[in-house]
Amino acid sequence: MTVVRPDADGFRRAVEVLRADSVVAFPTETVYGLGANAFSEKAVGEIYRLKNRPSWNPLIVHVANVEAARELAESWPVEANELAAQFWPGPLTLVLPRARHLSGVGASNDTIAIRVPAHEVALRLLEESGLPLAAPSANRSEGISPTTAEHVLRSLPDVPLVLDGGPAAWGIESTVLDLTGGGVRLLRPGAVPLRELRDVAGPVELPGEGPSDGAARPSPGMSRRHYAPRARLVLVDDVREADRDESVGVLTYETAGVEGAEVLSGDPREYAADLYAALHRLDDAGVTTILVQEPPRTEDWLAVRDRLGRAAAK
Ligand code: AMP
Ligand code: MG
Repeated sequence: MTVVRPDADGFRRAVEVLRADSVVAFPTETVYGLGANAFSEKAVGEIYRLKNRPSWNPLIVHVANVEAARELAESWPVEANELAAQFWPGPLTLVLPRARHLSGVGASNDTIAIRVPAHEVALRLLEESGLPLAAPSANRSEGISPTTAEHVLRSLPDVPLVLDGGPAAWGIESTVLDLTGGGVRLLRPGAVPLRELRDVAGPVELPGEGPSDGAARPSPGMSRRHYAPRARLVLVDDVREADRDESVGVLTYETAGVEGAEVLSGDPREYAADLYAALHRLDDAGVTTILVQEPPRTEDWLAVRDRLGRAAAK
């Protein structure tokens, strides 16, 4: 694998690799993505192979602007207009009916997940390659998402090329909304908070709400175990009271601090930005168990709690 700087030569090499139906890891504002031409079966197959990603889990397609997004969708509901105007470029993914002439991106369904990333390297790669890029997080399936080029290197040493754009600013994946059912339904909590989405799009249906007759579209990627470190992760009510020895690492946040712990911010956005890097550090320290102070049960912490819950799942 080669790590290159995002300069003229770096982009030239990246575009060459993408046009040859191979994959390139690149920074986005959420986490590092493993990108490939979204409509090349061979290139997309490389993503699944390298990540060991289950074939039923479809990919998000990244495009350079709203116009390019509309070309991939069969229809464009009014909510898509409003959400795209407000949040793109940015960490919001919209699931829409897929344009009929296009093939499925990964999984065989009739929808497509699209976003415009807010990262100059990602945008320039999209523009210079002229390709829509399917790009899941650049890590082995189920593992911790990469927020630096170094994380990508360690998780996926066989990726031919990585564009190094420094640490990802958000550090947590995009919020995914399903617009195919007439309303706005949350498939995955993420970087954009629900409060901001409601201000723009009105009510947002949460997972578990809505029709109970099985009519609601499932969220294929939300498997119980995901985002997991090698060490066993255990959520605890109060880390100060937990038994510890040197095989145990502790992850907590300001105001709930204990000695020898990784201490993250008490602000959910700042916490999310550092979470995966902290889990990588604890794994590197060789601990076998990571005790995590349970964050507050408020909506602001929804995305962080979602990731911690999946990381803790057996
Ligand atoms: P990631 O692997 O982090 O890129 O996550 C992509 C997320 O988007 C997963 O939860 C996928 O299941 C979801 N996703 C991608 N495409 C679709 C789609 N067409 N319909 C519903 N969810 C999708
Ligand atoms: Mg992922």
